Amino acid sequence: MAGYFEEMGWRELQEGEQPNHLLHMARFLIDFGMYEDNFSGEWPRLPPPASKEAVQNLPEVTIDSESKNCPICLKSFHSGDKAKEMPCHHQFHPTCILTWLERTNSCPFCRHELPTDHEGYEAFKKEKKRAEQRKEDLDTLHNSMFS
Ligand SMILES: [Zn+2]
Ligand SMILES: [Zn+2]
Repeated sequence: MAGYFEEMGWRELQEGEQPNHLLHMARFLIDFGMYEDNFSGEWPRLPPPASKEAVQNLPEVTIDSESKNCPICLKSFHSGDKAKEMPCHHQFHPTCILTWLERTNSCPFCRHELPTDHEGYEAFKKEKKRAEQRKEDLDTLHNSMFS
């Protein structure tokens, strides 16, 4: 097994260090190509809830036009209504978006993601990004060698 760990760029834990099982799992899924075959690069289930901090920090805005709908309940806003605004600038009734974000972390309209408190999911996202970067590097290398 030593060869495998070396190949993956892993080192043995130093004294006092704890293994990070969640990170291990994320790497495991990606390095074995499982996430490509089975999950097509997506988290295998609904992403976890948005972090409480991110939710608390969503700015409250006042609706100034009658023409917009809340994408969750589809009721139209009235001028002067309070709404919560996501970082992607989509606006929702506070109760609609807060209930939604207790279930999953992304904007129901455009899937813009808020941070979560879920270590496993954050590790997964980080590793996914790293894998994409690695693939890009390989593509660049491939193109420079074969074109
Ligand atoms: Zn609503
Ligand atoms: Zn959005």
